[in-house]
This record gives sequence, C-alpha cells and structure tokens, in this order.
Amino acid sequence: MTQKFDVVVIGAGPGGYVAAIKAAQLGLKTACIEKYQDGEGKLALGGTCLNVGCIPSKALLDSSWKFHEAQDGFAVHGINHAGVTMDVPAMIGRKSNIVKNLTGGVAGLFKSNGVTVLQGHGKLLAGKKVEVTGPNGVEVVEADNVILASGSRPIDIPPAPVDQKIIVDSTGALEFQEVPKRLGVIGAGVIGLELGSVWSRLGAQVTVLEALDTFLMAADTAVSKEALKTMTKQGLDIKLGARVTGSEVQGEEVVVKYTDANGEQSITFDKLIVAVGRRPVTTDLLASDSGVDIDERGFIFVDDYCATSVPGVYAIGDVVRGLMLAHKASEEGIMVVERIKGHKAVMNYDLIPSVIYTHPEIAWVGKTEQALKAEGVEVNVGSFPFAASGRAMAANDTGGFVKVIADAKTDRVLGVHVIGPSAAELVQQGAIAMEFGTSAEDLGMMVFSHPTLSEALHEAALAVNGGAIHIANRKKR
Ligand code: FAD
Ligand code: AMP
Repeated sequence: MTQKFDVVVIGAGPGGYVAAIKAAQLGLKTACIEKYQDGEGKLALGGTCLNVGCIPSKALLDSSWKFHEAQDGFAVHGINHAGVTMDVPAMIGRKSNIVKNLTGGVAGLFKSNGVTVLQGHGKLLAGKKVEVTGPNGVEVVEADNVILASGSRPIDIPPAPVDQKIIVDSTGALEFQEVPKRLGVIGAGVIGLELGSVWSRLGAQVTVLEALDTFLMAADTAVSKEALKTMTKQGLDIKLGARVTGSEVQGEEVVVKYTDANGEQSITFDKLIVAVGRRPVTTDLLASDSGVDIDERGFIFVDDYCATSVPGVYAIGDVVRGLMLAHKASEEGIMVVERIKGHKAVMNYDLIPSVIYTHPEIAWVGKTEQALKAEGVEVNVGSFPFAASGRAMAANDTGGFVKVIADAKTDRVLGVHVIGPSAAELVQQGAIAMEFGTSAEDLGMMVFSHPTLSEALHEAALAVNGGAIHIANRKKR
C-alpha cells in the first residue's frame, strides 16, 4: 500500500532535517528522504553542512588555529612551546568523529520526533507523489506537502578538473593526510579563504588565485581592506585579477595557468583546491511533468515564502535563490512548515548574518556603508578597534574592529560589521538589536559586562553619535 504523509522532505541537510523535525513537532506525519552515504557506505544525515561543510571545516580551522597558536602565540604568555608537532591524520580523525557524532545526532532526533527516514534518491512526480529509489528498490509515497531541500554542490570549472587527488574540491580539501608544501586555491570566497587558512597555518605555502580585482566584494570595504592586509601578513599570497585558464597534472604536481594584468602566468602546486562557488542540485529531482519551475541560473523558482510554482510544493536552502548558508536554509524550513500549519510566518532576509571563520574572524549583518551610500542613505558610522579593548589585550588578540552604521536621520542601526576575535558571536548581538529596530543610542545606553569583547560593539555604537569613551571620537557631539 502507498505510504501517505502530511509532509515529505527531499534532502536531510540543515534545511531539510530542521524542516522535518519542526513538521513532526507540529504534529504532521513526516518523512525525510536522503541518499548520502559516508565513507563507510552508511546513510549519513545532515547534508553538506554536517558532512563536508560547516562543521568539518570549523573542526579543522579550530585544530589548525591551536597549532598555530602553540607555535607562534604562546611565547608572549610565557609558555614554553618548544617541540610542538602536528599529527595530520589525528586532526582529520578528530574532525571525522565530530561529523559522525552530529550526523548520528540527527538520526536520533528524527527517531525521537517520529520522522520516518526513507533512504534513497527522491524524485518529485506529478500530483505531489515522490518516487524513492533506495537500496531495496523503488517506492512511491504520497504527500499533502513536499519540501525540496536538495542543496548544492561545488562548481567545476573546465580549466581545473577535479580528480580528488591533486586537484580537489572543498570535500577533498578536508581529507588531506599530510600538509601540502605548495597549495593553490582557486577562488578567494569564503570557502577558499577558510580552507586556505587551515593548511597555511599547518605550514603550507598558500597561493590564492582570484579572478576579480576586488577582495571580498560582499563585505564592507573597511573590513575587506583589513582582511586582505592581515591575511597577507599571515602568509597567504592572494593574487587578485588572476583568472585561471588551464591546468596540467604532471606526476605528483599540477601546473596552473592564469592570466593577470601582466599577461599569461604559470605556477606549480602540490595540491590545488577549486573553490569557485557552489551550484544548486536538481539532477533527476523533478519529473518532466512535476510542474516545478527552475530559474535561468538553475535554482528552483520560489516566491518570498519558498512556495514553488506547484501549490503544496516548497523549496528551501541552497537549491533556491539567496545566500548559501546553513542558517538561511534552516530558517526557511521553519517558515515553510509554519505556513503549512496555517501560521503567518515570514523570514527577514535583510538580517541574515554572514561569517568567514578565518583569523581574524569576519562577520556582518545588514548593509555595508558603500551599499547604503549607493542607495543615497545618509549614515553615521562608529568604529572601535580591538586594539583598545582590555579583553582583547588580555587575550593577545587585538586585530580588527567593530563598525556600526546607523541612519543619520533616525539613528536606527542599519549594519554591524566586525573583523576580529569572536566576530561571529558579536555580530549576532547586532542582529538582535537590528531585528528590534534599535537605535545606536539605545545600544550605547545598554550595560555591557566588563571586560568583554562585546564592549567593542558597545563603544562602536556610542561612537556613531560621538560618545565613545575609550577612543577619541571622530564625530563630535
Ligand atoms: P545541503 O546541506 O546541501 O543538503 C542537501 C541534502 O540533500 C544532501 O544531503 C543531499 O545528499 C540530499 N539530496 C540531494 N538531492 C537528493 C535527492 N534527489 N534525493 C535524496 N537526497 C537528496 N554555511 C554556513 O552557514 N556556515 C558555515 O560555516 C559554512 N561552511 C561551509 C564550509 C564548506 C566547506 C561548505 C562546502 C559549505 C559551507 N557552508 C556553510 C554552506 C552550507 O553547508 C550550506 O549552505 C548548507 O548545507 C545548505 O543546506 P541545505 O539543506 O540547503 O543543503
Ligand atoms: P564564492 O562564490 O564566494 O565561493 O567565491 C568563488 C570565487 O571564485 C569568486 O570570487 C570568483 O570570482 C572566483 N573564481 C571563479 N572562477 C575563477 C577562475 N577561473 N579563476 C580564478 N577565480 C575564479
């Protein structure tokens, strides 16, 4: 007999698994279809984020930062650090254990919430039927509502075909068993910079080839300038305006050709990471008569509420327009399920924080100063450097600053940009303030614990109207 559900979700990444849990919590009979298998051939839930994305990359960033600190950051504290070595397979093993714990955790959450897991490839047919091709054959299930959450995968470029040995994508770059001597990274986006940083801290000589002339275009200019300066100082050779045009694997190395302002260049690496972005996964996801439209860039077409062109069929996360971030995927999943239940949930797309987990960390929420100026909005800006923060000094981590941008007429906070220690956590405080329409003055009047890094946000908010205490104010009251 055909199994029938209130909600069927295709894909168990942070979009799909969160949607499935929420649906079950709200009393809907829910199934989630997932096909991904781990290195041991076992079904692994959690999608890109848990298996080969957010979590494993942060595990390696944290391990490599500790090694870097042990080598170069301890002496100043009076800690004798002679003879520190790195066991790369142990680091990779730790990362894999974290992944296993978390993906197993999702399976546990599915069980405790009563979500049915259907292992296999899901394909949407006409009439909200879904075909599941799994290890035991083909099954068709029916649903009142279907949520497509099939995510994304790395973009391949013809000049650098991935072989996962010498030329790898982000997944391969999480599995190196030794530190490459010369590492190339194509693309100075978030993933390229994070993975480049991991291996650079462990001793690789890293060159990043970026086609654009502008570094971190989405970030506030003050932040991207500071980031480029610091990362270059850390040893990343970031070549802007360098477009990769070809590559040739020669034995254990790869010769990469690129063009820059001086013409054709070539450079040799031991490993090359291709990190030029990600594209939506819709392969064999939609039957030709499913009725779901795809936009011109290959994303599933949805409205502001993630509804597709077929009533009762929704799409969320990386497979639809917008930022390719785990928290965006999850919140879209929650919104869709709430709406299925008849609640009027909406998502505030203007306040999705972006984070780059390099060191210093980079994070922002809201608009950049350049974007606001381009829109003709008059703004007041306050900045506070971590060099003036007692807590940052105590931690010997004083690079970067917090920048708060407020509307000059209303004083409402329109953007918070942080480069420095715990930027990701600090920016979330900005996001909370902005969600409630807080003014810079209100933020400045709040009591912040001392000594904390958060005080830098407090002081930057005060500086917006010339009221900072621990630095000279550029703007006078
Ligand atoms: P995915 O996580 O891609 O999950 C989709 C799932 O659907 C997959 O498990 C796939 O196997 C399954 N699937 C696809 N098609 C089918 C089908 N037909 N049938 C059955 N199953 C199917 N984001 C952040 O917010 N913070 C970070 O720090 C961060 N770091 C990252 C680091 C790296 C190296 C990478 C690659 C990504 C990172 N991201 C980060 C991005 C983040 O991983 C994605 O935005 C997020 O995973 C998207 O979630 P999703 O649910 O839309 O899709
Ligand atoms: P993101 O989309 O943020 O992951 O960043 C990917 C980066 O890769 C973008 O900044 C692109 O400009 C860059 N990129 C894409 N193709 C090439 C190429 N052939 N050579 C160098 N950089 C590239």
